[in-house]
Amino acid sequence: MTTGSAAAAGGVSEAVVVVGSGIAGITAAETVRAQGFAGPIIVLGAEPGLPYRRTALSKDILAADLSPERIRLRAAEYWADRGIEIRSESAVASIDTDGRIVRLESGDEIGYRAVLLATGARPHAIANVAATTLRTHDEALALQARLTEIAERGGAVVIVGAGLIGLELAASARDKGIDVTVADTADRPAPRLPRQVSAVLADLHRAHGVDLQLGTSIASVDGATVTLSNGQTRAADLVVAAIGVRANSELAAAAGIAVSDIGIEVDGRQATSTVGIYAAGDAASVLSPFGGRSRAEHWLAAQDQGKAAGAAIAAELAGDDHMPAPLVPHAWTIQFGVNLQFVGWPEASDEAQVEGDPSAGDAVIRFLRDGELTGAVAIGRPPVARAVKAELVERLSDAARDDVAVTAAAR
Ligand SMILES: Cc1cc2nc3c(=O)[nH]c(=O)nc-3n(C[C@H](O)[C@H](O)[C@H](O)COP(=O)(O)OP(=O)(O)OC[C@H]3O[C@@H](n4cnc5c(N)ncnc54)[C@H](O)[C@@H]3O)c2cc1C
Repeated sequence: MTTGSAAAAGGVSEAVVVVGSGIAGITAAETVRAQGFAGPIIVLGAEPGLPYRRTALSKDILAADLSPERIRLRAAEYWADRGIEIRSESAVASIDTDGRIVRLESGDEIGYRAVLLATGARPHAIANVAATTLRTHDEALALQARLTEIAERGGAVVIVGAGLIGLELAASARDKGIDVTVADTADRPAPRLPRQVSAVLADLHRAHGVDLQLGTSIASVDGATVTLSNGQTRAADLVVAAIGVRANSELAAAAGIAVSDIGIEVDGRQATSTVGIYAAGDAASVLSPFGGRSRAEHWLAAQDQGKAAGAAIAAELAGDDHMPAPLVPHAWTIQFGVNLQFVGWPEASDEAQVEGDPSAGDAVIRFLRDGELTGAVAIGRPPVARAVKAELVERLSDAARDDVAVTAAAR
């Protein structure tokens, strides 16, 4: 499917080409246009259909309306009105960074002035175990049909991985009466989040009858029986693998762009090591203001990075100076009706202050380092999460302005 007015742009060399039609890619495309770039903008997505809300795929999956019209982000006219061409089922095979050409698997070639790599991530598979994974709309439809059938006959599933997606699936399956076992090698659910959050999630799931098996993994599957590495067996009509993702960074690596195990390395402007090529979203390895790099793996972070990359691309093409706004990670999940939001860098803290009652689903945990806020977890309090994000953005913006002033004064 092709939408938008730049369909004649194939072969031109003044295009902004976005690889990946997820939230990072389309936000960048919208931003480049909104910032005044008048040339062709072409978004190349490997998946069929229009860009959609990936986050809808795991929330209440048995009851959710996952029809394309329901989950798409924008109607076709929206893209056409902005002259943004969305090409679906158009996987990019390679990028010639010397000739500034993007080559599609179809054999088509598109010349570019700037490229954004927003290729996202894909789920890890479990070695030697046939397990279902969930990343795409097509996979969600298949999983929805399978879980509905299992719910109708009172069956059971084993979910490997107690991260947010595994837990969201567990909650929606359990809500429909399916016997759910969640197994994870870690000693707590959502191990990348603060311990206080893991405790809330563990209590929530156990209270709803989810069989949480921690410190264990899947050893084998024999028909409808799963054996865990702790020796326990469970009936399972379906095994779902939700053990994390890896960045789709091969395209970048093959083009000679710096990548690491985390993803495609970018600087504070989302620029990669290759001139004219940017990266954003789950594919990108971004710098943390508290040191190190990370991959966000969250919707709002991918959106923020897409916006930042779009602004940087527009500035580069217009020859303008560009001061990037600081990006503060912000993610959310909903499980058994409880809304949890995560902001900033709790892992960089040396102190946690709890207000409210986490186990009652109504609390905020603020994380501080040397007395300064580094992040927060809001349980049942979404506005607090937004306020903390705004506070962190403001502080980091002030710090960035101070850095610029100090550098200017030193010149
Ligand atoms: C089921 C599910 C539920 C989630 N729920 C939440 C949530 O509640 N809250 C939250 O904060 N986050 C959630 N997330 C995470 C969030 O959806 C992602 O962080 C976000 O979608 C990443 O956006 P992205 O644009 O970087 O990548 P993606 O959305 O992965 O998009 C990348 C696109 O690039 C395409 N692509 C890859 N390679 C090529 C190529 N060579 N050529 C062309 N196209 C290519 C892919 O096919 C894909 O369509 C969820 C994720 C999943 C899977």
